[in-house]
Amino acid sequence: RRQLVWFRTDLRCEDNTALHHAAQRGPVIGVVCWTPHQWQRHGHGANKLDFWRRGIIALSEYLGRLNIPLKIIRAEGFETLPDQLLALAETLECDALHFNDEYGLNERRRDRQISERFHHQALEVHRYTDQIAFTPGSLLTGDGRYYSVFTPFYKSWLKNIGADQLQQFDAPEAQPAFDDITSDAPIEFDAGNVVIDANDWPAGEEAAQDRLARFLQKRAHHYDEGRDFPAMTATSGLSAWLALGMISWRQCINAAAARNGGHLGDGDSNLKSWISEIIWREFYQHVLVGFPRVNCHQPFQEHTGAMAWRENEEDFQRWCEGNTGYPLVDAAMRQLTTTGWMHNRLRMVTAMFLSKHLLIDWRRGEAFFLEHLVDGELGANNGGWQWAASTGTDAAPYFRIFNPTTQARRFDPEGIFIAKFVPELANVAAKRRHAPDAATCQQTGYPVPMVDHRAARQRALEAFKALS
Ligand code: FAD
Repeated sequence: RRQLVWFRTDLRCEDNTALHHAAQRGPVIGVVCWTPHQWQRHGHGANKLDFWRRGIIALSEYLGRLNIPLKIIRAEGFETLPDQLLALAETLECDALHFNDEYGLNERRRDRQISERFHHQALEVHRYTDQIAFTPGSLLTGDGRYYSVFTPFYKSWLKNIGADQLQQFDAPEAQPAFDDITSDAPIEFDAGNVVIDANDWPAGEEAAQDRLARFLQKRAHHYDEGRDFPAMTATSGLSAWLALGMISWRQCINAAAARNGGHLGDGDSNLKSWISEIIWREFYQHVLVGFPRVNCHQPFQEHTGAMAWRENEEDFQRWCEGNTGYPLVDAAMRQLTTTGWMHNRLRMVTAMFLSKHLLIDWRRGEAFFLEHLVDGELGANNGGWQWAASTGTDAAPYFRIFNPTTQARRFDPEGIFIAKFVPELANVAAKRRHAPDAATCQQTGYPVPMVDHRAARQRALEAFKALS
């Protein structure tokens, strides 16, 4: 009997749990639901949609080699998908739908509706835990609650992870070709203002595997030394591929463990740290399910909902454009808007600058990031923003406010990164690039700092104190 596999943020054939199990039961037909407007409503921008579209093309090509046709359902939003998927399953004479679970609130609601609709018509639905190791709700604190702090979550993850969860599945063998079903034509979609270059961001699982292999060979063993320095290429750069499931967390963790004597939480501290980052990713997926309010623009720490954020459009625009007068902040924001990606250290620095120095609502920054990031992902982005704004799970304590100049001196000591993204300062002596004086600003046209660090820090402290 024919099996319908719905690919979502798991755009790969290798190590895809739903695809693997479906192929054991009968001939497979793939489907993707192209709902760009829904994703735009969720805040995703052009770079991510472009990468997504190309990822579907790469998936279709790979599936083609396995004689698995890929059908495309186009819809404005999620609402019509139950009917559309059901109609497709009936037309193609499939008796079961398979998919890997996703954890955003709207996605879970959508999947529930679709499952009910299929069951109602006596069609089977098979759902799998694939994007993370533990089904949300199966890894809880001693008193049965979702973790809200990473370290105990991490320890429990390491303690409970089993060989079955780490087991990878090969792509299925090629099946006999259908004579009555062919793949749909590739999606054409004008995503708008795309800044990512397709050569730098090749979509698909083969490109992801290349990146992983290069990272593990060349950089993983020095991850701890280099990971905080934005001018270095020291991290994996895999986030966009992970976000759309062009590579699985198992493929990442198993490949890293293989170079680490099989260890996940011991051994080479570099590999251990990198593996722990992949577990951070999972932590935030559990947070989405355990604390649904974070899906709905609410802070995790509810009392911070009363914060009197400043509404200052001009200040917000200066942050967005990278004209704050703090060179590392500005270089980072320009990296985001001109390349569609930002280094992790800088995501922390810029998010803290907006939410603390400018005291502007973190949700505005969260949305701006999502609009530009090629790797934009609700769990990690929301988690990162709420961490920086001290409103989240395991958040930075509100009084720990990064000094953006000190951060620049520490993590871009030669000012190389600043020079790359803030050309006004490229010809200024390296040591003055971190905090150009008034005369340098005058000469170069670079802005003087829009706020004084100490005064801004004090203002933030007072605003947070007033909450408690
Ligand atoms: P590596 O250092 O190679 O890490 C490997 C993988 O681990 C990453 O690809 C990512 O999947 C995961 N990971 C690493 N750090 C984190 C983290 N702190 N939280 C969750 N997962 C992590 N990551 C996203 O994937 N999408 C986002 O939208 C996103 N928004 C962020 C917003 C803020 C304010 C902050 C502070 C962090 C955000 N992150 C986000 C996490 C992190 O910055 C990126 O995952 C990382 O910079 C991607 O680079 P990399 O692939 O080279 O990471």
